[in-house]
Amino acid sequence: RAKDAGGNRYALADPDSDARAIDRHSLTNHLPGALERDEFFLEYQPLIRMSDGQVDGAEALVRWKHPVHGRLGPDRFIPLAEHTGLIVPLGRWVLEQAVSHACTWAGGQPLRVNVNLSPRQLHHPDLVPDTIAVLESAGVAPSSLCLEVTESALISADEDELKPLWQLAELGVDIALDDFGTGYSNLANLRRLPATTLKLDRSFTQGLQRHPADPVDLTFVEGIVSLAHALGLAVTVEGVETESQADQLRQLGCDTAQGWYYARPAPPGEFARDWARAG
Ligand code: C2E
Ligand code: MG
Ligand code: MG
Ligand code: MG
Repeated sequence: RAKDAGGNRYALADPDSDARAIDRHSLTNHLPGALERDEFFLEYQPLIRMSDGQVDGAEALVRWKHPVHGRLGPDRFIPLAEHTGLIVPLGRWVLEQAVSHACTWAGGQPLRVNVNLSPRQLHHPDLVPDTIAVLESAGVAPSSLCLEVTESALISADEDELKPLWQLAELGVDIALDDFGTGYSNLANLRRLPATTLKLDRSFTQGLQRHPADPVDLTFVEGIVSLAHALGLAVTVEGVETESQADQLRQLGCDTAQGWYYARPAPPGEFARDWARAG
């Protein structure tokens, strides 16, 4: 039997890697025209204030309706878009869409919208002027926008490379450090960054789901929350899937939460209906 299993594994190895190669090929071929063919769309997931359970904003998450493979999540194509440079026009499209959707929520007073930025966008010279132009043409205050950047995207950035983020922050745009706690961040690095929020990675939330909760994860969350608050930063937690996680994270002092326990990402119409009373 052991031999059979081994044989099967071996037999499966080749078709698998063939499929991956074809897949990569087809993604690479279709990606360049996807923006013009209007194949991308956004979903929104609410950010919930832990003190009162009210919606505090929404994160925009991009998806691709691929002509052959159907709906693809960002993990399948963002790295490729980053590699080819398409992320720059795609990222601008995401920003425009997100800001214009936010305008239709909550009757004139736009709900805050979070948009993810990838490293290539951060280092693009048009980031600041493009962002200002998008906000101005929609008539949206900078404080209604939060840009999410991962700490790994910033880890090697020098003072000059951080300037655009500081400029945006000075205009009133919120900056969140996404997937916080997963990179090799030097905590002292926090002082160089114009961050207003730490988004604690889902892995910490997962550790709290065990019974009893993983004591190391508890200690980390507690420590990060108190450090963040001492530095004047808010803490958002990702990947909250259960009531027990939500309760623990509220008790640990987290400010905002996001996850399937509250809502899955949804298309703009559904999001507006459930969370934002379209205006
Ligand atoms: P992220 O910014 O950390 O986004 C959170 C991810 O966690 C999303 O995955 C979301 O659907 C998922 N999630 C939310 N709640 C839960 C939960 O309770 N449990 C679990 N297991 N997952 C949950 P998604 O939509 O697949 O996005 C993956 C990543 O792709 C994002 O991670 C972000 O880094 C990137 N991304 C998404 N949209 C954009 C974009 O417009 N531009 C760029 N540059 N990156 C994007
Ligand atoms: Mg994010
Ligand atoms: Mg995240
Ligand atoms: Mg994440």
